[in-house]
Amino acid sequence: MSVLTPINKLKMELNDNNFFVKRDDLLPFSFGGNKARKAVYFFDEIEKNNNDVIVTYGSSSSNHCRIIANMAASRGLECYIISPQEGYEETSNSKMVALFGAKIIKMPLNDVANTIEQIMKDLKKKHNPYFIQGGGHGNIGTEAYVHAYKEIKDYEKEENINFDYIFLASGTGTTQAGLVAGKIKAEDINKKIIGISIARKNPRGGDVVAQSVRDYFMDGKDYDEEINFIDEYICGGYGKSNDEIDKIVKDVLLYEGMPLNSTYTGKAFWGMKRFIEETNIKEKNILFINTGGTPLFFDDLGELIK
Ligand SMILES: *Cc1c(COP(=O)(O)O)cnc(C)c1O
Repeated sequence: MSVLTPINKLKMELNDNNFFVKRDDLLPFSFGGNKARKAVYFFDEIEKNNNDVIVTYGSSSSNHCRIIANMAASRGLECYIISPQEGYEETSNSKMVALFGAKIIKMPLNDVANTIEQIMKDLKKKHNPYFIQGGGHGNIGTEAYVHAYKEIKDYEKEENINFDYIFLASGTGTTQAGLVAGKIKAEDINKKIIGISIARKNPRGGDVVAQSVRDYFMDGKDYDEEINFIDEYICGGYGKSNDEIDKIVKDVLLYEGMPLNSTYTGKAFWGMKRFIEETNIKEKNILFINTGGTPLFFDDLGELIK
C-alpha cells in the first residue's frame, strides 16, 4: 500500500504566513490517519514474521484500535484488543472495532500489563502472536514518520519551497519523534517541528518524544534541543474541548473543506494558531500535518450543530 499523501495550500491567513497541510487523514485505508501510516509498517513486519494473531492495547474507541482491527480482519488474522474499562464510551471507532470482529478484553487499567503478558504467553502455546504497543509506539511507528518526513522533503524539492515550521498534534509523541528523526537524518537545521500536546504535560510529554528519538538512533546522543513539545493548549486534558476549538473544526470544514476533530487535529490547529500569534511568527511557510481521526469528526458533529 502506498503511503504517499498530498500536500495542499490552505486559504487561511494569519500574520502573512503561508499555510499548507499534509493530508495523512487521506491515507487509503480505513479512514486514514497517522495510525494507518504506522500500521502499514507494523503489518510489513507481521507479514515477514508470519504472525497469525495480533494483540494490541488501547481503548476500543481509539483510532489505533480501529486501524489495527481492520487491517487484521482484512488479512484474516485474529485480533485481540486489551482495553482499559475506565472512560469507555461508545463511538464510531468502537462500533467499527466490533464490526471488524476484534476480541475486546476490558479490565481495570491496573491489570492491563499482566493481562497482556498472560495472553501472549497463552497464545504462544499454539500460535505466533505479534504485540503492537498502544498507539503504535516504538521504533516501527517512528520509522513510519521518518518516511513521511522524506515525502515532505521530496515535495519541497519538486515545488521549490521550504517549510520553516511543521506543526502537528502530539499524543504519545511517536509521530513527532519520527518527524524529528527524519529532520536529523536530513540535517535540516533550519526547520522547526512543533508538537502541540493534546493531553500530556511536560516534562513527561517532551521526555517521551526525546526518548523515542534516542531509541531510534541508539547512538548515545541526547536530542533534547530538537524537541518542541508544547503543553499550553491541552485545554483540560484528553478529549476536552472549548468553544474556540469547536469553531475551528467548523470553520476549517466550511472554508477549506477539510475535516478536523476536537480531540486531536482541531485542538492542535487551534494551538498552532495561538502559538503563531503569541510568538509572533510572520511571513513563514508553515506545514500542518492532518494526522486524521476522521471518524471522530462525526462523533463531534452533534456538538458542532448546536
Ligand atoms: C494518535 C493520534 C495522534 C497522536 O499521535 P502520537 O504518535 O501518539 O503522538 C494525533 N492525531 C490523531 C488523529 C491520532 O489518532
